Amino acid sequence: MEDPGTSGRTPAPEVDFRAVFGSAPDAYLLLAPDPPRFTILGASETYLRATMTRREDVVGRPLFEVFPDNPTDPGATGVRNLQASLEEVIRTGEPHRMALQKYDIRAPDGDFEERFWDPLNSPVFDDRGKLVHLVHRVEDVTEQIRSGKRLRILESVVTTANDAVVVTEPEPRNGEGRRIIYVNEAFTRMTGYGPDEVIGRTARMLRGADTDPETTRRIGAALDRRESVRAELLNYRKDGSPFWVEVSISPVLDESGRVVQWTSVQRDTTERRRAEETALRLTREKAARAEEARAREEIESILEKLRESEERHRLLANMIPQHIWTTDPDGYHGYFSRRWYEFTGAAPEETEGEGWLRFLHPDDRERTLERWQHSLRTGEPYSIEYRFRRADGEYRWFLGQAMPLRDEAGEIVEWFGTLTDISDQKRAEDRLRESEERFRALGNSIPQLAWMAEPDGWIFWYNDRWHEYTGTTLEEMQGWGWQKVHHPDHVDRVVERIRHAFETGTPWEDTFPLRSRTGEYRWFLSRAVPIRDASGNVVRWFGTNTDVTEEREAAAERERLLEREREARADADRRREELERVTESRTRLMHGFTHDVKNPLGAADGYAELLEHGILGELSAKQVESVRGIRRSIEMSLHLIHELLELARAEAGEIELEPVPTGVGELAREAAEDFRAKAAAHGLGLEVRVPEALPTETDPARVRQILGNLLSNAVKYTPEGRITVGADLRTDGSGPGDGDWIAIRVSDTGPGIPEAKRETIFQEFTRIDPEAESGAGVGLAISRRIARLLGGDLTVESEVGRGSTFTLWLPQGES
Ligand code: ADP
Repeated sequence: MEDPGTSGRTPAPEVDFRAVFGSAPDAYLLLAPDPPRFTILGASETYLRATMTRREDVVGRPLFEVFPDNPTDPGATGVRNLQASLEEVIRTGEPHRMALQKYDIRAPDGDFEERFWDPLNSPVFDDRGKLVHLVHRVEDVTEQIRSGKRLRILESVVTTANDAVVVTEPEPRNGEGRRIIYVNEAFTRMTGYGPDEVIGRTARMLRGADTDPETTRRIGAALDRRESVRAELLNYRKDGSPFWVEVSISPVLDESGRVVQWTSVQRDTTERRRAEETALRLTREKAARAEEARAREEIESILEKLRESEERHRLLANMIPQHIWTTDPDGYHGYFSRRWYEFTGAAPEETEGEGWLRFLHPDDRERTLERWQHSLRTGEPYSIEYRFRRADGEYRWFLGQAMPLRDEAGEIVEWFGTLTDISDQKRAEDRLRESEERFRALGNSIPQLAWMAEPDGWIFWYNDRWHEYTGTTLEEMQGWGWQKVHHPDHVDRVVERIRHAFETGTPWEDTFPLRSRTGEYRWFLSRAVPIRDASGNVVRWFGTNTDVTEEREAAAERERLLEREREARADADRRREELERVTESRTRLMHGFTHDVKNPLGAADGYAELLEHGILGELSAKQVESVRGIRRSIEMSLHLIHELLELARAEAGEIELEPVPTGVGELAREAAEDFRAKAAAHGLGLEVRVPEALPTETDPARVRQILGNLLSNAVKYTPEGRITVGADLRTDGSGPGDGDWIAIRVSDTGPGIPEAKRETIFQEFTRIDPEAESGAGVGLAISRRIARLLGGDLTVESEVGRGSTFTLWLPQGES
């Protein structure tokens, strides 16, 4: 903020207000209306002197930062009061004169000095009426206060104040209370007591019968604690009239903080209270009037409602599906609801009194009157099923019910009755009875056990078979008595499940044993189904129990057999696996063995050959003969090894087939011709009866191998006679399987093969004469394996002493 004392940059106004302001004889502060800051904009020399400050230290700073309260004075109120006054000026736009203020000033040495001020705060407006500044003018009255002027000022304020002021001594005397030492004019106006009449006495003189003792006690207690107190209480004037007064009492302290006197400011609040009470009363009266109006309306509506209620009853009576009727205590029918008239088609006077009897079915009349008279006589409720004639002539079934209406003395004043059409219900009952009958008849004609139950599962009927089988009576069995013939291990489950079915209305099925009259348990498949009425409610349960003991036993037997079969299969699987394992290890063994033996034998033959041919030196004829014998043995061994290898390969499935279109006839002839010389050498004849072609798809080398083996055996085992090779196509189903077959036969006139050996010769290492040195018994085994690999087979027919025929079967066509 610019320093008004050093300004000169702005064009000089005609009058330098700043200079005027600055040198004014009074103490002024010019403030910005910017609460809560109240920035100091300027200060007069007098102000600066009075407050011991310098312009450059105050201008531009917030007011209360420059002039704070004296921190050593705990009761200081200067800042708060000045703030409130400045805000008042801003709010009202009017000057505000503050009460005398004690507002201590900080001296340059930092200590605070006690000061009293008479402050006046005024607003400053610009041309347009906008509040632009606040002027804070103070008069330092410290000296006057100190010199006693203060008392005069205070006195004038107090004397002329509107509120009553009472000053009392600091302490009570002799239990009388604090004596009054001063009252102002307002007090006299308020109470009627002049100063002379009250000074030296206590405030108790103002109390009376209705003064609240609790409030006076509270005031006394606060003063004893030297605290300010505020209260409102009832006091009495000199003329005895009561008035309400608001009292605010505070201590006056000396410099050492001692209470020197109490000042009590009092204001008459009687008028205010009266106004408040009046307002309250008016509000209450208004509320009461509104309440009254509401009550009146309510009462009116209850009158109204009562009127409607009878209407309503009539309406209700006409609306419900039943017919309603009433009679007097003697049974005189006076009222029927509209439905009755609609039903009977009668006019009102026609059914009054005893007229209604004309519409009752003649067969029901006697019974009805009897009952009705009984109820009239005894006052017991009336209930009966009977038929009434409809307007179209049809009789309908009704349930008639009536109750007596009694007065407070218990006397019957009226009978109140209803008629409910139960024809449909009756028909449903009839239908149910019919189906029950049918089920009963059916139940006794079937071989099963059968029963019927109420909707809740209470069994009320069993067929004859049930009683025959269990040897029980209906009395024992009815309801839930059937549990007696159940097996103890099953009965709980059965009860639980059937109960669930009954509760949920779902069909039931279970299988369990039932004890027969002989004590034996047999198994029963049991079922029950709910029978429902038109609206879906269960009305009956029909149940059957079918003896399934034999079926169960058969099933169990089947299960046992299946189990045995499963076990056998598993056993066979185990054995096959075992065999495979054995075969595999044997194959591995043979592979290894033959390989290890073949090579050294080959080498031995080589050396023997060198010897035989004299390359290592001339041998004698005898030696040559021996070497030849060695070589024959080696050759036989190598042949055997070759066969073993073949067998091992065949077993391991290592034999690879190369099927090609082959003329089997041609092939057989060639194979036979290869043996012609050998047969002749053995003095055997060879006959070949083979057609030209016999084409099929097969591996010719393998076929040749098999035929070679068969021819070699024939030559080997036939001492005399001849060998015949034949072949033909079999389309007559005589082959080893479906379809067409080519059969190649090798027959001989040898010793034949005994029946018992005809299969075993096809097993490895089997020979009819184990002593004979002719072979290892492997050839036929390999041959059959290969034949089967080719899709065919190898079989033998023989007659001991006449000869044997081996047949190689090959499938005709594309294999
Ligand atoms: P090997 O002839 O090497 O002993 P094979 O498996 O070929 O082995 O024959 C097995 C056995 O069947 C022979 O040892 C022999 O006892 C018998 N056998 C084979 N073919 C004939 C045949 N044509 N007549 C009589 N017995 C035969």
